[in-house]
Amino acid sequence: MKKRSVYIAYTGGTIGMKKTKHGFAPEAGYLTRELKQLADLNRAEMPDYLIHEYDNLIDSSNITPNEWFNIADDIRKNYDKFDGFVILHGTDTMAYTASALSFMLEDLDKPVIVTGSQIPFGELRSDGRDNLITSVILAANYAIPEVCLFFHDRLYRGNRAQKIDANNFHAFGSPNYPALAKIGTTIDVNEQLMIKANTKPFKVQKITPPPIAVVSIFPGMSAQMLKNLLIEPIQGLILQTYGMGNAPSNDTDFLQVLEQASARDVIIVNISQCYRGSVDMHGYATGNRLNQCGVISGFDMTTEAALTKLYYLFSLGLSVQDIKQKMQTNLRGELTNPEIEVK
Ligand code: ASP
Repeated sequence: MKKRSVYIAYTGGTIGMKKTKHGFAPEAGYLTRELKQLADLNRAEMPDYLIHEYDNLIDSSNITPNEWFNIADDIRKNYDKFDGFVILHGTDTMAYTASALSFMLEDLDKPVIVTGSQIPFGELRSDGRDNLITSVILAANYAIPEVCLFFHDRLYRGNRAQKIDANNFHAFGSPNYPALAKIGTTIDVNEQLMIKANTKPFKVQKITPPPIAVVSIFPGMSAQMLKNLLIEPIQGLILQTYGMGNAPSNDTDFLQVLEQASARDVIIVNISQCYRGSVDMHGYATGNRLNQCGVISGFDMTTEAALTKLYYLFSLGLSVQDIKQKMQTNLRGELTNPEIEVK
C-alpha cells in the first residue's frame, strides 16, 4: 500500500522564529533545518512529507487576503499529490486564516490543518513539536474534509476557533462548537461532528476584500462616530453587540444611522461580544430594534468567521439580497441558525 503523504507549508509565525535584537522574527531556512532533524517526524510509522517554506515568511500580524490566496493556491497546486495539508502559521491571526480558508477552499475533501506554537520550535519547552507531529498524523490518517485548527490537544473546526490566550499553550477555544478531535494518550476523532465529504471537484475562490468595518459597541458610543464610519464606500459592517445581540434602543440617532446605512444596502451583521452564545434579535426589545433597522443576525459566528465570510460572499459577486441570505445560512459549519435548523 502506498504510504500516506502530507504537505507542510511554513508561512511564518513563532514556530519558526529566532531571537533577534528586536524580538522574535522568522528566519529563512531555520524551521526546515530543524524539522529535518526531528526524529519523530522521520519515524517509519509517520507519513511521507514535503516541507515548503514560503519566500516571504511573516509574523501573522502582517497577514492580508493576498497571503490567504497564496496559501489557498499553494494547496490547489498540490491538492492531488498529497493526502492532507498542514499549514504552519502565527497564532495571532490563525483563526482569521483558518476561517478564510474554510470559505475559499470550495468542495474540499481532504484535511487542511492550520497550526503553530507559542514558543519557537528551537527553544526549550516548545509546544511546536507536539502541535506539528499531531497535525501531521491527523492530516495523513483521518477523513477530515474540512479546514481545521489544531492547538495543544484539540482539533477545532477552523471557522469556529478563536485565540483565547496570549501566553498559555491552551491558546485557542471553540466557543460554540465542540472540538472535532481530542488528543490525550489516544487520538479521539469525532466523525459525527464533521462536515460531510464532498464529491464535487475542489476549487479555490479568491477573496478581494470590499470596504468592510468591524465595530464593537460600548456605553457612550456616539451616533456621529458610527455615521462617520458608515459613509461611502463602506459596504458592510460587523457590529459586535451586547449579549444576545442588543444595542441601545433609546438612542434614536444611533438607530437612524444604522437604518439609513441599511437602506443604502450596507450589510450590517449582528455578532455578540460574548465569548459564547448566539444572537437572537427576537429575545429583547433592544435587539429587536436592530432587526427593524435592517440589521441581520450573525447567530453564533465568531467575528473571524463573520468577517471572512462577508469578504468571501462579496467576492462571489452576489446581489446584496443573496449575500444577506447566505450570511444567515450555514455554508461550512460556521453557524447554527435555529430558525432553519429546527425545521
Ligand atoms: N506574532 C506571532 C504571529 O502571529 C505570534 C505567534 O506566532 O504565536 O506570527
